[in-house]
Amino acid sequence: MKKHNFNAGPSILPREVIEKTADAILDFNGSGLSLMEISHRAKDFQPVVDEAVALFKELLNIPEGYSVLFLGGGASLEFCMIPFNFLEKKAAYLNTGVWAKKAMKEAKAFGEVVEVASSAESTYTYIPKDYVIPTDADYFHITTNNTIYGTELHKDLDSPVPMIADMSSDIFSRPIDVSKYICIYGGAQKNLAPAGVTFVIIKNDALGKVSRYIPTMLNYQTHIDNGSMFNTPPVVPIYSALLTLRWIKAQGGVEAMQQRAKEKAELLYTEIDRNKMFRGTVNNNEDRSYMNICFIMNDEYKDLEADFMKFATGRGMVGIKGHRSVGGFRASCYNALPKESVQALIDCMQEFEKLH
Ligand SMILES: *Cc1c(COP(=O)(O)O)cnc(C)c1O
Repeated sequence: MKKHNFNAGPSILPREVIEKTADAILDFNGSGLSLMEISHRAKDFQPVVDEAVALFKELLNIPEGYSVLFLGGGASLEFCMIPFNFLEKKAAYLNTGVWAKKAMKEAKAFGEVVEVASSAESTYTYIPKDYVIPTDADYFHITTNNTIYGTELHKDLDSPVPMIADMSSDIFSRPIDVSKYICIYGGAQKNLAPAGVTFVIIKNDALGKVSRYIPTMLNYQTHIDNGSMFNTPPVVPIYSALLTLRWIKAQGGVEAMQQRAKEKAELLYTEIDRNKMFRGTVNNNEDRSYMNICFIMNDEYKDLEADFMKFATGRGMVGIKGHRSVGGFRASCYNALPKESVQALIDCMQEFEKLH
């Protein structure tokens, strides 16, 4: 049976990325060696990093003066590296979910943290709009897509201070104005690569402004100076990321990704809103994520939740269970998910409705 992969992360990758990674694991560039058994400093591998960096810059239209890094540690380590490198006195954070909260928690160890707004009181089902960002903050931190709750900022915000964004789960799903940010980061395992690599885009001249000692490995400058090769980078995930970047480019770039994401999301939200058995957890249209689409069963059908899960699983749906903290269902529709998978899920919902 065909599987429709709605996993939230690690998640679906383009088939050709998986196949070409598998080829390189068996024989990298006809060298007779596996990608897993060559040095990251091998002359064949440097071009992989160089091309991945170049494609990041090209696809996201990154201005001069920025570096692109591939590191270990996941987005979660960035939660601490960000304040270590950028927070001197005060930072502002928008609290839109568990990831934002975790980022905020780390920052508190380094200086004053202002929570400009929070939607915690409604289980993060919307993105706060009216708030004041202190003009004396060193930066304003946002999470552009809230993977667990299915809310997303579809446009770059305006801020009186430089912005920093966790874009773990929506990177490369829309064009971004990188010049508004001093740092954009994320775990690659949602929309780019298998788990194991973290991408960081940094404005070079935003560094060097804090007075504390920064441990070598946690200092972004170390990784800029060494082209992500200060220590051994995650070679295999970087190679897969390169293949995904080539695939995005061949599909027409981030504008095409945005168009596809919008089409898929509109199809699914339309069904959620129409179907008598289901409802979305995010009601404000402009906050609805294109990447993670969260829905629950209407009250009168609540006891059929497990039945629907079984019904959908039996028809090839994978990974549609909502995050353990919110329940219900979550269909993650990342770049590589084909429209046919969304249609297959919609068919399930319609068939299930007919049975009841
Ligand atoms: C998955 C996710 C994280 C955590 O990423 P790790 O690489 O596992 O540390 C952080 N932020 C967002 C928005 C995520 O979706």
